[in-house]
Parts: sequence; structure tokens; C-alpha cells
Amino acid sequence: MLLGGAAVGVGAAGVAAWDELSRWWWRVPGNDKPRTPGAVDYRGAEWVAAASANWRRGDRPDDYTVDRVIIHVVQGSYAVALKVFRDPGHGAATHYVVRGGDGHVAQCVRELDVAFHAGNRAYNERSVGIEHEGFVDRPRDFTDVMYASSARLTADICARHDIPLDREHIIGHHEVPGADHTDPGRHWDWDRYLRLVRAAAKEAAEAGARGSGRPGESGGPSASAEPSGG
Ligand SMILES: [Zn+2]
Repeated sequence: MLLGGAAVGVGAAGVAAWDELSRWWWRVPGNDKPRTPGAVDYRGAEWVAAASANWRRGDRPDDYTVDRVIIHVVQGSYAVALKVFRDPGHGAATHYVVRGGDGHVAQCVRELDVAFHAGNRAYNERSVGIEHEGFVDRPRDFTDVMYASSARLTADICARHDIPLDREHIIGHHEVPGADHTDPGRHWDWDRYLRLVRAAAKEAAEAGARGSGRPGESGGPSASAEPSGG
């Protein structure tokens, strides 16, 4: 496993002007980033705050470069994950939790803060963590709608932090050095997931180029964070 942040992509050169404008403050070191109550980093996520004991206040990406997305499986339900994240005694939380039945996304920790989820301090500092409802040994828990929703979320995180869409940067908890966890397990379909992430990134980029799908704008087509379930 490659260590160090040198491998971060330089794809930011092509971002549209509006995007630069919308996040210029984000790149200025020492600027206190806005912490609007209830605000989420991923459009379509529902804010469900984790207890402050389960994360550490940060100033990412100024204090730490974010160059990993870490995939977890709850070993339980969406509701259980949110419950334990609200428990200050739990000692852990991820930034996001994705629900299996409909792909609904909760954000529990801001991306600028360091969530305790990887079991490795350096990896906590450099990553965004996503929990998925279900059990590692029950592949039926990994629903189509959950894969698709999670892939859109990961594509969005990677676009905002300039993280390459590959298996070096989108990893499982079990791939964190020193981790004693096995999630997301052998039933997590990485090929499929990476395919979906790349497709979602392409779709979002095309929507951006058309001038739709901007964060904060309503009425944008497709890029719907809310899957239609069916
Ligand atoms: Zn995990």
C-alpha cells in the first residue's frame, strides 16, 4: 500500500470557473470554514450528527490532505449505525451512512473534521469513511440501490477532494494498515463499485458542463441524490 499524499491527482486544472468561485475559501489556509448547523457536504444527504467524542475537529484539507475513501459495512442496520454514532461512549463514527433499502444517505461528521473509523490515526486524518447497512456475510444486503447511491456519494467526495477513482484511493476498511476489521468483506463487489463510481463521476461532470446539477441549485435533472427505489 502506497503511503504519503504525493499521488493525489492534478485533475483540478480543468474545473469550471464557477466551481473555483464556489469553493475559493475552502482552499485558503487558516480560513475558518463555515459550520452551518445542519449543512451537509453532499447534496441529498440528511444531517444526523454524531456525538463529538466520536470525531475530532479538523480543518481539512488545510491541515490534512484527504486522499482516501474508506468503505465499511455496519454489521447491523442503518438505524443501529446512527444510534451508536450518537453514543459518546462508542468512540467511532464515519462521515456517512448509506441505507440498504432505498440508498438514503446520512452525514454524521463533516468532511473537514476527522472521524474515528479506520482504526489508524493517519488513515482517519486522510480519509472520508462511508458505512453501509448490512452484514459482510449476507450479500443480499448489498442492494443495487445501495451500490448506486454509495457510488454517487464516493464520486462526489472524490471530485471535491481531487481523489483518483481507483482501488489505491477507494479502499476497504480491511485494507487499512493495522486494521483488525474485515469489512466490507468478500461479497463486496469492487469491480462493480468502481464501475458505478466512474459512471457517476462522468454523469456529474457532464451535468456540470451543461450548467446543471450545481450544488445548491434546485431543479437539476438526473444527478438526483435520491434514487427512485422502484
Ligand atoms: Zn469498518
